[in-house]
Amino acid sequence: MPDILIIGAGIIGLALARELKRRQPAASIVVLEKETGPGRHSSGRNSGVLHSGLYYAPGSLKARLCRQGALEMADWHEQHGIALNRCGKILTPTAPEDAPRMEALYARAQTNGVRVERLDAQALKELEPETRSATGAALWIPDTAVGTPADVLKTLADEIRKSGVELWNNAELARVDAKKCQVLLKHGERIGFGYAINAAGLHADRIARQFGLGQRYALLPFKGLYWKLKADADIRIPHLIYPVMDLRTLTLGIHTTPATDGALYLGPTAVPAFGREHYRGLRGVQPVEALRMARDLGQMFLHDSEGYRQQAWQEGRRYFRRGFLEAVQALLPNVRAEHLAPAAKVGLHPRLFDRLRGVLLKDFVIEQDARSLHILGATSPAWTSAFPFARHICERIENSTVASRGQAG
Ligand SMILES: Cc1cc2nc3c(=O)[nH]c(=O)nc-3n(C[C@H](O)[C@H](O)[C@H](O)COP(=O)(O)OP(=O)(O)OC[C@H]3O[C@@H](n4cnc5c(N)ncnc54)[C@H](O)[C@@H]3O)c2cc1C
Repeated sequence: MPDILIIGAGIIGLALARELKRRQPAASIVVLEKETGPGRHSSGRNSGVLHSGLYYAPGSLKARLCRQGALEMADWHEQHGIALNRCGKILTPTAPEDAPRMEALYARAQTNGVRVERLDAQALKELEPETRSATGAALWIPDTAVGTPADVLKTLADEIRKSGVELWNNAELARVDAKKCQVLLKHGERIGFGYAINAAGLHADRIARQFGLGQRYALLPFKGLYWKLKADADIRIPHLIYPVMDLRTLTLGIHTTPATDGALYLGPTAVPAFGREHYRGLRGVQPVEALRMARDLGQMFLHDSEGYRQQAWQEGRRYFRRGFLEAVQALLPNVRAEHLAPAAKVGLHPRLFDRLRGVLLKDFVIEQDARSLHILGATSPAWTSAFPFARHICERIENSTVASRGQAG
């Protein structure tokens, strides 16, 4: 029986295994992964951006963990010889109405300790001639970079294996008996655990409910589709270029990502999906879940929760080539339809829906009891934040164990 059982070998499960092994070298740790290897879902299908931390509400977990996470993730790349593109990010208004939001983001960047500079029209043109600003002004965030998620996952998995952590692939948790501290795997094996940590990404809410926690939450998957700029487009875009985010929805909008392999990605979208692994076509659609998701989305649309109607309208259009191209051209006027090729990459953002309040939550949510802890809604920037996030989780577990020992004593 392992002392610690981690469910999910995405970046969070792996970073946690590493941190726990460092703190408790004698502990036996098993990571269960239902796929044939680590990082087959969000962690291996993301943009790989090391976010600076400018968007998140001051004091939130995301604001506290992202900036430090970006520094540590960049160091990890360098220490392990993994490609990192320190390209910096431009944030530019695509409509005059974006001006006050850009100011709000400038102020938030300063509160969150993120380096940010103002650009006027001339400075923007010199830095990135391919983009435009609807107001003449833009922001420059020099510390945002692009990493290589696949290589990070591989080196991290190798490192934790060497340290003695057991990584079980093809090991899907099917049922939980929380009272007996046991889980049943899909292939029939039963395992006990001392403490369980649920880092199951798109499935984390269902697993938490099996442990009797997180009953008010349900994950809603949003599909992130990308396009690529064709190599023969003869347009060079070395920077990350983003529109100004609507802070009510925390959706980044279609942006550029100059990947470390030289490709230029455009996207991702954030359109509702009808299954937790509904990546393409009808594969992965789950009819019962789809009905539940349609009901939750309908509730948000009806009440226009935090600007959701506008987001649904905007993102829905981007599912189609023409709508997507419009969003791209708002940032990059020289890009034409023939410059775009569909990208193989597609990911799903697991946004956490609070059924009591009828809203999508913006921060990471952690639920725990004496024998288990659950990470819910680990959306962006969880990849960037993974290392300090893992320390935060360990501290929470240690503090709750000390507190419960104190109560018992
Ligand atoms: C399109 C897209 C772009 C993004 N871009 C960025 C970005 O640029 N920067 C950034 O910081 N973040 C980004 N993110 C967010 C980031 O990728 C995620 O926040 C992060 O990868 C979450 O990691 P995770 O370990 O929680 O989840 P996952 O990577 O989904 O890992 C969960 C694991 O649990 C396993 N699992 C699930 N159920 C079970 C079960 N029953 N039994 C056993 N195993 C199970 C899954 O197979 C999976 O491997 C992006 C996300 C998406 C979708």
